[in-house]
Amino acid sequence: MRLILILGDQLSHDLSALRAARPDDIIVMAEVASEAGCVPHHPQKIAFLFAAMRKFAAELRAKGHTVAYATLDDPDNSQSIPGELLRRAADHGATLVIATEPGEWRLIAALSDLPIPVTQLPDDRFLASHAEFEAWADGRKELRMEWFYRDMRRKTGLLMEGDQPAGGQWNFDHDNRKPARADLLRARPPRFEPDAVTAQVLDLVEARFPDNFGRLRPFTYATDRAGALQVLDHFIAHSLDEFGPYQDAMLQDDPFLHHSILSPYINAGLLSPLEVCQAAADAHAAGKVRLNSAEGFIRQIIGWREYMRGIYFLEGPDYTARNVLGHDRALPPVYWGAPTRMNCMAQAVGQTRDHAYAHHIQRLMVTGNFALLAGIDPHQVHEWYLAVYIDAYEWVEAPNVIGMSQFADGGVVGSKPYVSSGNYIHKMSDYCGGCAYKVADKTGPRACPFNLLYWDFLVRHRERFERNPRIGRAFATWDRMDADRRDRIRADAAAFLTRLEAGEVV
Ligand code: SF4
Repeated sequence: MRLILILGDQLSHDLSALRAARPDDIIVMAEVASEAGCVPHHPQKIAFLFAAMRKFAAELRAKGHTVAYATLDDPDNSQSIPGELLRRAADHGATLVIATEPGEWRLIAALSDLPIPVTQLPDDRFLASHAEFEAWADGRKELRMEWFYRDMRRKTGLLMEGDQPAGGQWNFDHDNRKPARADLLRARPPRFEPDAVTAQVLDLVEARFPDNFGRLRPFTYATDRAGALQVLDHFIAHSLDEFGPYQDAMLQDDPFLHHSILSPYINAGLLSPLEVCQAAADAHAAGKVRLNSAEGFIRQIIGWREYMRGIYFLEGPDYTARNVLGHDRALPPVYWGAPTRMNCMAQAVGQTRDHAYAHHIQRLMVTGNFALLAGIDPHQVHEWYLAVYIDAYEWVEAPNVIGMSQFADGGVVGSKPYVSSGNYIHKMSDYCGGCAYKVADKTGPRACPFNLLYWDFLVRHRERFERNPRIGRAFATWDRMDADRRDRIRADAAAFLTRLEAGEVV
C-alpha cells in the first residue's frame, strides 16, 4: 500500500505525484497547525488554502481516488505533515510515500527524515528543473534574470517570431512606467461569494486564528480551478491591455489597478503558469492586447517567477538567514497596522490587511524600501511577507525579500539595492498629497522619512555601494551638498529612527 501526499500549494490535477498514483493508493491531504502557524499567516490566506484543498479533495474523490483528508478540527489530526503521513501509514499499512517535492527546504527535510521511505518527485509544474537552472547559473559571474528570461522565451516559444523576440525586443519596460489616474470605471477582479464549503472554512479560521493580522471578511477570492479560470478570462479581456504601462503605478482606493491577481491561483496550483502565459500571448496575437503589456506580464511569470525559484533552490537552506548589511532593527508595529503618519505605508499595509494582497511595487518600493532604508532585520521582514500575502510561499517570497528587496544576500538577485527617496513614490502614486509629511522637504520636522533615510542608508553603507555602477553616482550628489545640510539630514534621520524604535507614531 502506498500514500500519495498532496500539499496545500499542490492543487494541480497533473501534479507529478498524482500522475504516479495507482487506483489503490491513498491520497493524503491535511490542514495542519504546524503549517498554518509556522508564521502568523493572514486569515484570508489560511481560508483560501483550506477551502481550495477541500474542493480539490472532492474533485479527486469524484475522479475515483481514495482521499484521507484531515480537517484542522479533526480530533485525530496530529497537526503536522509528517505526523499525518505516519498516522495514515499505520491506518492503511502503507510502506511508501510518494510526494511532489515541496517548495520549502523545511518540508523537504521533514519528508526526508520520515521513518518510512518517501519518494520526492520533481515539481514539473515549473518550466525550469533544478538541473536546468543550475546549468544556466554554472560559471556565470552574475545571475541576472533578464538572460534567464530570454532562455525561457526561447524554450516556450512565447512571443517569439522564429528565434527572434516579437517586436524585435525582449523587454519593453521603458514603456511600462506610467503613473495612473483614478478611474471609477476601471475593471476590478471578479469577486466570489463564499459557498457552503468556503463559509465553513471561514468560520473555522475565524475561531482558530482570531489574533492573526488581517481581515478575514469580506472574503472574495475564488477557491477552485473553475473560479480561477474566470479570473484569468476576466483579466485577459478587461485588464491585461493596460497592465503594462501602469504596472508600477499606485493609487489610493484602487488596490488592484490593472493587476491580474492570479498569483494566488498559480502558486497554489489551480492555474498552470504556461496556460496563463499562453492566454496572454494569444490575446496579443489576436490584436486585443498591446505587446508591451503581454510581454511585461509574461516576463513576471516565466522570467521572475521561475528565476526566483531557481535562486531559492540554488542558494540552499540558509538563504533566509542571510544579512550581509548587518541590519538588526526590530520590525516596527506599523507593519502590523499600527497608526502611521506615512500615507504610503498606511495605504500599502492597509490594503494588505484588507486583501492579503499588494502589488509588486507596493511590496518593493514602499514596505520593502522602508524596511531596507530603516535597517530592519531582514529575517523579520521575510517572515512578515511570508505571513501576510496570500500568494507567498518561501520559494518565491524569500528570494524576492531577502534578495531583491532587502539586499541581504549581498547581490545574488539584485545588482543594486532597491532604495529610493520619496520622489519615486511621489512620481508613481497619489499617496503624497494626503500625507502628513512633505515629499518636497528634505530636512526638518515635515521632511518625508524616505528622503532622510535614503541618504542615511547610503552613507552607512558607503563602502559597499560606492563603486556600484548603478548607484555609486548618488555619492557624488551627497558629497556636493554643503556640510551643514548633510549634518541636518543625518541628525533628522537619527531622530526619526529613535522615534521608530521607541514605538512612537512616525
Ligand atoms: Fe510616503 Fe513620503 Fe510621500 Fe508621505 S511624503 S506618502 S512618507 S513618500
